[in-house]
Amino acid sequence: MCSISPGAAPRSPGREPAVEVVGLVKRYGTKTAVDRLDLTVARGSVTAVLGPNGAGKTTTVEICEGYRRPDDGTVRVLGLDPVADAAALRPRIGVMLQSGGVYAGARAEEMLRHTATLHSHPVDVDALIDRLGLGSCGRTPYRRLSGGQQQRLALAMAVVGRPELVFLDEPTAGLDPQARHATWDLVRELRQDGVSIVLTTHFMDEAEQLADDVAIIEGGRVIAQGSPEELCRGGAENTLRFTGRPGLDLASLLKALPADSVAAELTPGAYRVQGKVDPQLLATVASWCAQNGVLPHAIAVERHTLEDVFLELTGKELRA
Ligand code: ATP
Repeated sequence: MCSISPGAAPRSPGREPAVEVVGLVKRYGTKTAVDRLDLTVARGSVTAVLGPNGAGKTTTVEICEGYRRPDDGTVRVLGLDPVADAAALRPRIGVMLQSGGVYAGARAEEMLRHTATLHSHPVDVDALIDRLGLGSCGRTPYRRLSGGQQQRLALAMAVVGRPELVFLDEPTAGLDPQARHATWDLVRELRQDGVSIVLTTHFMDEAEQLADDVAIIEGGRVIAQGSPEELCRGGAENTLRFTGRPGLDLASLLKALPADSVAAELTPGAYRVQGKVDPQLLATVASWCAQNGVLPHAIAVERHTLEDVFLELTGKELRA
């Protein structure tokens, strides 16, 4: 694979979090878009910010980028204030906006090369063009690029300066599967190089694939934060399925299981146990099978996905 990071850039030794947001408030008129939000992004990690439409993700990210001023709370990005220290911070962060911020008549490649010249240690521009499949549209004016090409160019411009921290707002929205995977590979590579990444996304599989940490925002607040693994383990109940001879005595199985478990025979010989499915529960079911002379043909634990957890926490109704 062609690396976009041929050499190490000088890094400040700061040990503070990449982003630290405490009690952030942002109002638009009477609307409180961000409501005492706390968020910490560890250095060198990928943090995915998830939330329904209008939850306050973009507002929060734009405040961290220094594009909007908070009404209350504190925001530190690489230890600096995004507004007061904007001049010092800008060269150290990469920003991929959902739209805008570019001159519509400029050609893709010249925009990227120009952006690279603004930084002291840019990545290899040709390699980056290659990686993101921008070669064939390098001479195309920005306004003539397809939506997916504009997205990829915005990503390239966000990372070309070899930033310490990158903000990616819905980086793969509207991308075809190839471009989506190329974006994921790039994010993984940046992380390997020690870059901290904050991304917003509506794709739960993207968060599961990429994120060390996930923050779920609802109504301007973080309502859950943790690794995808932790979030999927907590909260929702999980399911264990097994097959055996039909008509097993589930009342005796239930006696062996924790009090809040539910067991059912869905079709003859196909059993489902719902509850807190952990190694102990699996051992209990296996031991009950052994005691009752049941050899399951199949036994499987169904984990909740991040999407299940997300919908459980934020509800299923559409947002205004
Ligand atoms: P999406 O997933 O749809 O991008 P989001 O979580 O990024 O949503 P924001 O764009 O931060 O949400 O918007 C939060 C709330 O603030 C929404 O109700 C939105 O309508 C409102 N809002 C955002 N920008 C402005 C603005 N400039 N003026 C007035 N209201 C705004």
